[in-house]
Amino acid sequence: MSKHFIETENKVIADSLKIRFYPIAVKSAKGTRITDQDGVEYLDLAAGWAVAGIGYGHQRVSNKIKEQYETLSFTSQLSAPEPTMVSLAQKLLDITPGDFPKKVWFGHSGSDANDCIAKLVPLEKNRSRMISFMGSYHGQTMGSLSLSGHPAQSRFIGSGNVVKIPYPNPYRPLFGDPKRLTDQVIDYLENEVFNTVCPPEDTAGIIIEGIQSDGGLIVPPADFLPRLQEICRRYGIHLIFDEVKVGLGRTGKWFSFDHHDIVPDAVVLGKSLGGGLPISAVVARKEILDVGTGIHLFTTSGNPVSSTASLETMKIIEDERLIDNARVNGEYFMTLLKQLQEKHEIIGDVRGKGLAIGVELVENRVSKVPAAEKTAAICYRCYELGMLVFYVGIHSNVIEITPPLTITKKDINLAISVFDQAFSDLEQQRINMDRVKEYAGW
Ligand code: PMP
Repeated sequence: MSKHFIETENKVIADSLKIRFYPIAVKSAKGTRITDQDGVEYLDLAAGWAVAGIGYGHQRVSNKIKEQYETLSFTSQLSAPEPTMVSLAQKLLDITPGDFPKKVWFGHSGSDANDCIAKLVPLEKNRSRMISFMGSYHGQTMGSLSLSGHPAQSRFIGSGNVVKIPYPNPYRPLFGDPKRLTDQVIDYLENEVFNTVCPPEDTAGIIIEGIQSDGGLIVPPADFLPRLQEICRRYGIHLIFDEVKVGLGRTGKWFSFDHHDIVPDAVVLGKSLGGGLPISAVVARKEILDVGTGIHLFTTSGNPVSSTASLETMKIIEDERLIDNARVNGEYFMTLLKQLQEKHEIIGDVRGKGLAIGVELVENRVSKVPAAEKTAAICYRCYELGMLVFYVGIHSNVIEITPPLTITKKDINLAISVFDQAFSDLEQQRINMDRVKEYAGW
């Protein structure tokens, strides 16, 4: 059944819309589990690219969506505002820091929200340039791909007005000494970039992921983000956090920047915001989002059904104490993964915060040569063993672990035993590499 479905899907759905790791045809999903069309159940450690933060098919969200659809299925904010969107905006304003006037913008994807940043921040500042980070993923539309520094967008030419600087990666420090990483990147920004290609008086904003996710689940040194904020304040540059993947509780706080004393000028949200429905948001200084009327809008932005789903999602995060769960069970997961690292030589690094965890695989722990093909093999083997994980990173060698925040210790124990089996199978050459190649494109 699955095989036939996949053949049909391949004929009718555009390749430009796909990244495939293994041949799965999904039928349904509930909580942390996905079931395929042959009835096989999988533990989803990726939460569908971090969308299913509260898990799949939450009954409370389902009830609210039905109720909302029957009460008011649609009104476009272009012409007629309604209360759901306004309540959601209020909630987002409440959970983001900053005692200056703020407002909220709504869209449908991380990409259109980052386009909002790419358009409005330079306009408001009347400065034509932005700075972002090598390895960052901000989206696929022209503005958001211009901000991105990820290989996924490297075939497209975006705006040349975005300068990319190195993201401080403690496992692979670009300039050598990991202890001086923060100083080195900050010095490079201030003494090189500002003095040459991107003068601060022309720089409208710096956009950063508090943990660089698609770039490889990289956690910067603890002092880096506060130092970056200091620089932004000194030069009057807006500091923007892209929290599309790691925001809304995943790291054990509402936002990744909440682990530091940081007040961003703009916060970008998406993915898990809608509990599975498409919705994105930018929460930012009023002057940024009020820079013009009707200059970045979409007909269905902030529609009542997505807004209702999102509002209920926020309540579930609080009622079910999912932020605490992310912190506590994230630590538990990391501890067990570090024990696995002692057993399996290929695991070069285990890092993360809360339930945003990266496991980097290397051919050799001294040379740190990325083991990309083997990473694909592990993901494929996990799929065969009933667990879904993807790989990320500019070297495609980091297993990304971003499960629903509802994950239990029992699920984590299961995940560890699946990983252990997959790593042993790799070591014993028991993985069918032809099948891995077919899907991973090696
Ligand atoms: N920002 C970040 C940090 C992301 O991880 C992603 C998606 N991986 C995006 C933006 C783009 O989101 P979308 O795919 O919803 O456009």
